[in-house]
Amino acid sequence: MVIDTKMLGLLLRDSDIYSILEKALHGDRLGFKDINYLMKSQDTHLIGLVADRIRKEIVGDTVTFIPNQILNYTNICTVRCDFCAFYRNSGDEDSYTLNPSQVIDRAVKAWSQYNTKQVLIQGGVNPEISIEYYEEIFHGIKEKTKNLAIHGLSTSEIEFISKKERVSIKEVLQRLQNSGLDSIPGAGGEILVDRIRKKIGRRLSSVNGWLRVMEEAHKLNIPTSATMMYGHIESETDRAKHLLTIRELQKKTGGFMAFIGWNFESGSTKLEQDGLVTHSSGGMELLRIVAAARIVFRELIRNIQSSWLTNSISMAQIALINGANDWGGTLYDEEVIPATGKQVRDIKTQEILHSIKNMNRPIAERDNCYKILRYL
Ligand code: SF4
Repeated sequence: MVIDTKMLGLLLRDSDIYSILEKALHGDRLGFKDINYLMKSQDTHLIGLVADRIRKEIVGDTVTFIPNQILNYTNICTVRCDFCAFYRNSGDEDSYTLNPSQVIDRAVKAWSQYNTKQVLIQGGVNPEISIEYYEEIFHGIKEKTKNLAIHGLSTSEIEFISKKERVSIKEVLQRLQNSGLDSIPGAGGEILVDRIRKKIGRRLSSVNGWLRVMEEAHKLNIPTSATMMYGHIESETDRAKHLLTIRELQKKTGGFMAFIGWNFESGSTKLEQDGLVTHSSGGMELLRIVAAARIVFRELIRNIQSSWLTNSISMAQIALINGANDWGGTLYDEEVIPATGKQVRDIKTQEILHSIKNMNRPIAERDNCYKILRYL
């Protein structure tokens, strides 16, 4: 549905967020107070309508996606976040670390079998792994595939390599970039509020740490994503602060390509065992976050993902009419979400095409930098 200000006026006559949505429709940048108000509002549908109109103006109707493989090379991690069900201690029966050739082989196999355009390489903070391990993997993948983009490593992994190797973040990033790293996912962002991060056991990569890695990457022309993990112990105000913090850095560097909101999956995590999170936050929260992100970032961060991975294909379709424009990736090999007990199927390109075609929207395959490669 396309709405104009007049229609909005009719729809929102009694809504207390009218003036905020009106500002958004006029292209004004919202301040903290307004964003906080949006986050707390129950008028999810109206916020979504406005966000979707802004989406249409900024990026049009095309829904993009990328054939992608998620490759988790180790589950050994010494950070042991309370919200993570994926990590294992070294020596645990089900701990694992793939050697470089195994990682390269898996990436090459998915590339030749499924024509993947990107491999997302991510694992834990494993003290046994040196920077040469990543260099070997990145070189190997580039050598054997040429055009497969490497989207890799969380800020925690990058910060740890810097500590272990006693070199600056900049030097780590330069070495990884020279080996073939193309872009960096937003992992490690969680909620950019130190008080909350401490409570969820985020012992590495505090707010400043995450921002520092992202800023260094942007300065080196390594684009990154920005993420938010919501639905645990954070408040709506913390979510508003998170979006504003990202927007401030983006104004400075312009290096964020996309925003992705991840719904927290509590299964088998310490937060669940401690009774701090008992259930998933649900679809309305997703829609509010997708819509608020579109309204807050506007053209500053042009791509907002549908977050299908933790919210299902059906919810992803609805997110695409609430401000999102990008489906995200197809998925092969992912192991982080299944560790929580939630079943995630590999989703292939045909399935994505079918879901988007049902919405009567143009579909395009993109690269890891969100450049459209071809319409389908
Ligand atoms: S979220 Fe990442 S850093 Fe934290 S325990 Fe899990 S693998 Fe380690």
